[in-house]
Amino acid sequence: MTSKPDRGLVEFNSEECKGCGLCVEACPPKVLRLSEQLNHYGYHTAEYLGAGCTGCGICFFACPEPGGIAVLRREVAA
Ligand code: SF4
Ligand code: SF4
Repeated sequence: MTSKPDRGLVEFNSEECKGCGLCVEACPPKVLRLSEQLNHYGYHTAEYLGAGCTGCGICFFACPEPGGIAVLRREVAA
């Protein structure tokens, strides 16, 4: 694989996620989905497909649950 490294990394707190899907809808490159797994509240939680995050932070601002999402930006060498 010689593809460029992703500029961002998104992490979910599955115990805070309520499975509303707003982050999935909001993500411009569509790299999120709702998982098949249920958390202890019985919600299908959001998860990252594993590649393609730009670090834009839109999912973070779309999420109504404090602490549901963390977005990390990566420094990418030019
Ligand atoms: S930071 Fe942006 S690109 Fe990355 S998962 Fe969130 S909305 Fe999608
Ligand atoms: S917006 Fe927040 S609560 Fe809703 S599915 Fe995404 S992470 Fe879960």
